Amino acid sequence: MSSTRLSGVGVSSGRASGPVVRVAEAPGEPPSTPPPADPAAEAARVRPAARAVADALTARAAAVSGDARSVLETTAAMATDPALLSQAETLVTGSSLPAPRAVWQAAEGFITALTAAGGYMAERARDVADVRDRVIAELLGTAAPGVPALSTPSVLVARDLAPADTAGLDPELVLALVTEEGGPTSHTAILARSLGIPAVVAVRGVLASDADALAVDGDTGEVTASDGTVLAAGTGPAISWNGVGVLKDGHRVKVLANVGSPADAKAAAAAGAEGVGLFRTEFCYLSATEEPSESEQRAAYAAVLAPFAGKPVVVRTLDAGADKPLAFLEPEAEPNPALGVRGLRVAFDRPELIDRQLAAIAAAAVDTGAEVSVMAPMVATAEEAAWFVARARAAGIARAGVMIEIPAAALAAREILAEVDFVSLGTNDLAQYLFAADRQLGAVAALNDPWQPALLRLIGLVGEAATATGTPLGVCGEAAADPLLATVLTGLGATSLSMNPSALTAVGARLATSSLDVCQLAARGALAAATPAAARTAARAPH
Ligand code: PEP
Ligand code: MG
Repeated sequence: MSSTRLSGVGVSSGRASGPVVRVAEAPGEPPSTPPPADPAAEAARVRPAARAVADALTARAAAVSGDARSVLETTAAMATDPALLSQAETLVTGSSLPAPRAVWQAAEGFITALTAAGGYMAERARDVADVRDRVIAELLGTAAPGVPALSTPSVLVARDLAPADTAGLDPELVLALVTEEGGPTSHTAILARSLGIPAVVAVRGVLASDADALAVDGDTGEVTASDGTVLAAGTGPAISWNGVGVLKDGHRVKVLANVGSPADAKAAAAAGAEGVGLFRTEFCYLSATEEPSESEQRAAYAAVLAPFAGKPVVVRTLDAGADKPLAFLEPEAEPNPALGVRGLRVAFDRPELIDRQLAAIAAAAVDTGAEVSVMAPMVATAEEAAWFVARARAAGIARAGVMIEIPAAALAAREILAEVDFVSLGTNDLAQYLFAADRQLGAVAALNDPWQPALLRLIGLVGEAATATGTPLGVCGEAAADPLLATVLTGLGATSLSMNPSALTAVGARLATSSLDVCQLAARGALAAATPAAARTAARAPH
């Protein structure tokens, strides 16, 4: 047994151990040399390789259901697309390229065309790239990229997990997730929490480790070699939640969803969300090349609001820039985009932009009967908050608030609260800016752990100000999706928590087991802790 002893950032609670299965990476761009000695024979390798890929994907599709099944079936069909294959064959015979290179080049043409078409077609470009990588791996005789089909319970080890990698992950067979990269707000973390799988991210050296089996502690972030004994985290009794966010003493904490599309909104409503605490409007336009017209915006927002007629929905105005660039709002070249003209700042020089958006939101609210509020992202000062609220009121929107995601705004909470109807803590960015640590970078992931006591103390300041003035305080960063942390945030004064729809039941159920006194004790313990691990332990103690 190897002596692996590594550590990273625990992002999903629980301990598990078992044999390691490594997620193979995509093979990358193959060289165009040497030319094949027998081009006809080389070209003849393309179709069988594609067939093998399609067969493997079809077999996996048959074993799962729902979205995962349709993703796998679509990918399988693409693998044998005649246009792709005949182009690859022609590149082998006509241009003397090795088969892997020919498949790469043939796929490139499709990917460029799909990306240029934008919208739904652009999303398919990723599927073509996935098929390309699988066929190339088959031709090279290397492991298929992505999560392999698991037959026994295993610990998955990967560089990072893309959304497509995770389609069909079976929580019965995935004992734990360990990634070399990624941060607490990465896709891996969100997914693992929603599935209740222990997970540790940013584990430097785990890809180089030769351990056959690992023990994973999702609370402390420790990853150690084990003797291979399978120890599942234990799913415990099935949890349920009645759709009302309430502590066992009757204290109300609204349990809301974060959404970015009509599909998200439907999933959120189906999962029992009491409303929406964060509608990321920029997600509607990630592939738009021009600013959508007011009527296009109205229709797009109405499609998301529709499942929430009569329920509260907080619509965030466009948060473009840094990790969420929008082609039609590209700023001047900036040395540090995360510190540049992003979020609400984009609107200061172009107020007509935000006025059009606010008008579209107001109209969509009338169309759907949702109880709509608006909030601005990336607000730094009380003057900025007042500027935004005035424009929202002018657009006829009764309730307006701002996100607290810049440390200066947290420290100016008292002045900001005087200008707004509510605030919502964006803990993802608040952590990034508080710790000067890029939220997308695995190397600094430990600093973005939402259990960092310094972050909790800053949240506590906002909580005190909100409680003193009776202003509603939401939390819509990833912190709200962690059931134990949800109790701490409640103890710090949060009156609503908004999260990925898949986390609603776990958080709602956990809140129902706690009282406000216990949440406050948990919060006090976490604030006094010196490290994220100690904060977690302290928060668990009073429960
Ligand atoms: C946040 O920053 O915590 C947040 C909720 O907004 P986003 O993740 O969209 O930046
Ligand atoms: Mg943010």
